[in-house]
Amino acid sequence: MTKTEMIAEKYNKYVMATYGRDGIAFVKGKGIKLWDAEGREYLDFFPGWAVSGIGHCHPKVVAAVRKQAGILIHVSNNYYNELQADLAEKIISHAFPGKVFFANSGAEANECAIKLARKYGSQTKRYEIITMEKSFHGRTMATITATGQDKVKHGFEPLLEGFKTVPYNDLNAVKNALTDKTIAVMLEPIQGEGGINMADKSYLEGLKKLCSEKDMLLIFDEVQTGMGRTGEMFCFKNYGIQPDIMTLAKSLGGGVPIGATVASARIQDTLTAGTHASTFGGSPIVCAAALATFQAIEEDGLLENAKNMGAYLKKKLEALKKEFSFIKEIRGAALMLGVELSVDGKKIFNECIKRGLMINCTQGNILRIVPPLTVRKSDINKAVKILKESLATIQGQ
Ligand SMILES: *Cc1c(COP(=O)(O)O)cnc(C)c1O
Repeated sequence: MTKTEMIAEKYNKYVMATYGRDGIAFVKGKGIKLWDAEGREYLDFFPGWAVSGIGHCHPKVVAAVRKQAGILIHVSNNYYNELQADLAEKIISHAFPGKVFFANSGAEANECAIKLARKYGSQTKRYEIITMEKSFHGRTMATITATGQDKVKHGFEPLLEGFKTVPYNDLNAVKNALTDKTIAVMLEPIQGEGGINMADKSYLEGLKKLCSEKDMLLIFDEVQTGMGRTGEMFCFKNYGIQPDIMTLAKSLGGGVPIGATVASARIQDTLTAGTHASTFGGSPIVCAAALATFQAIEEDGLLENAKNMGAYLKKKLEALKKEFSFIKEIRGAALMLGVELSVDGKKIFNECIKRGLMINCTQGNILRIVPPLTVRKSDINKAVKILKESLATIQGQ
């Protein structure tokens, strides 16, 4: 039995089979590289669903976690901890005037956004939230209700009341769904799970205007688009449109579990003492990791690198599009790219893994490519070569 088979056997016995698993056990990571239990090396262009956004075990994050682990790992949120204050200040300095609530995941960050919207709406007896088709907001009961994909909801009914789902990038659909009970519109500025679908600027401008006019809250789920992924610290900056609430998670902690809900100044004090909480949220150790992540992005020029390398990768992918007629479109911003195929993408995904390249396939036919912000030209050249070989295996089918 190989080491991987031994691990798989224990999983089959003891771990709930809630994930499709690809038969690999990773044991080590460094930067853009990963190693499995059999000693194989991989180039990681999809680091943990974009969690390790500045690469695996970034030295700044490792140093911060090691140091903080020996000082103080966790304290109750009924007391102050300096690192949480520093991290909130850091997030606000990059986002917009307001305040932050800390949780441990994207779903929880969105759950807080939903609760905040409802609390705000309770003053005027409004509670409905409009969300988008093909969106993804998490796996709690509220966030599967918000998510615009039926597959996450089956068997969990009855869902939460007060949600409506409309097509993405369709301002009129939102207008038509409005009632006197609507309190918020929630969306990803670029849909990740949905297949790298980008919001049009005019659409977001329209939503912003609509929300201001009706005193509704515009909620941007930046769990995947945040932390430099799209070339700006947060994706809303690419559009110049500030939401009322922004949620973060995934790469915020450089790999450790952390989520954050950012509320703009106007509504920052809606959730008062006793109305929301998270035992683990914003503990010293995760805040140290997140502060180190910001430091790496700022000091190492990673936003600039994301823009430059994103443009380079996009150009390379466009060249592949010319070669392979089954590539329909390349889209995305900076290092959040999608390759839409007119064929099934799962086989190409498997061929890439076989050749040591980690990417993702979503919605059946969209290859999702989100390398760490630290990616270099030489990594991209290697990855594109492997992708090209993998695409060639289905040429003519
Ligand atoms: C991953 C993701 C979530 C859910 O995050 P979890 O940490 O898995 O709860 C929510 N929204 C978006 C846009 C995501 O990509």
